[in-house]
Amino acid sequence: MSFSNLGLSAPILKAVAELGYETPTPIQEKAIPVILTGKNLIAAAQTGTGKTASFVLPLLEKFSDMPPIRAKRIRALILVPTRELAVQVDANITQYSKHLSLTSLAMYGGVDYKDQKQRLIDGVDILVATPGRLLDMYTQRALHFDELEVLVLDEADRMLDMGFIEDINKILERLPKERQNLLFSATLSAQVRILAKTAVERPVEISV
Ligand code: AMP
Repeated sequence: MSFSNLGLSAPILKAVAELGYETPTPIQEKAIPVILTGKNLIAAAQTGTGKTASFVLPLLEKFSDMPPIRAKRIRALILVPTRELAVQVDANITQYSKHLSLTSLAMYGGVDYKDQKQRLIDGVDILVATPGRLLDMYTQRALHFDELEVLVLDEADRMLDMGFIEDINKILERLPKERQNLLFSATLSAQVRILAKTAVERPVEISV
């Protein structure tokens, strides 16, 4: 299996090749085609399996139709448990979207609101955020999700362990009902499955 069999287009294949990736990892092989069809997905995958690229690459593919004049709307929201992961996922998006004109932002607590608000005003296609700061920003009317197409819950088990379930439920209430939902978790515990039941209807389930 090679990346070129997965339904990804030239700018993305080029970025991946430049990073020295030769073959997709098992989670990438399984998840990318499913996500490209628009289906909901829940996936059991540990960190280090290449899970980030398994959802970022198909998101970029979906959004690669972006017109040259940027529409100021958030198309995808990736919720993550920690600031470190937000920064890391955003850095990956930057690498993989090198040959596309898409913007992403990592939004997390503990830093000034001003810069993050300005970035939102400038326009962000893919927002990577921790649940607390995201809700703060929403309450301050600094962002809206009217045109959100995809929600990703990354490291869902860790988000639950860290006590984010109430924040996540509040966020879910504020998102458009018609959307694609992707949930990634190291383990699909009973708790994660309860979250999946409310957030991710009729998913394809994969594990690696
Ligand atoms: P992750 O599981 O998303 O944290 O990714 C773990 C590491 O694997 C990251 O440093 C990625 O850059 C790298 N990686 C992801 N996909 C591939 C691939 N297909 N080939 C080689 N390295 C990869």
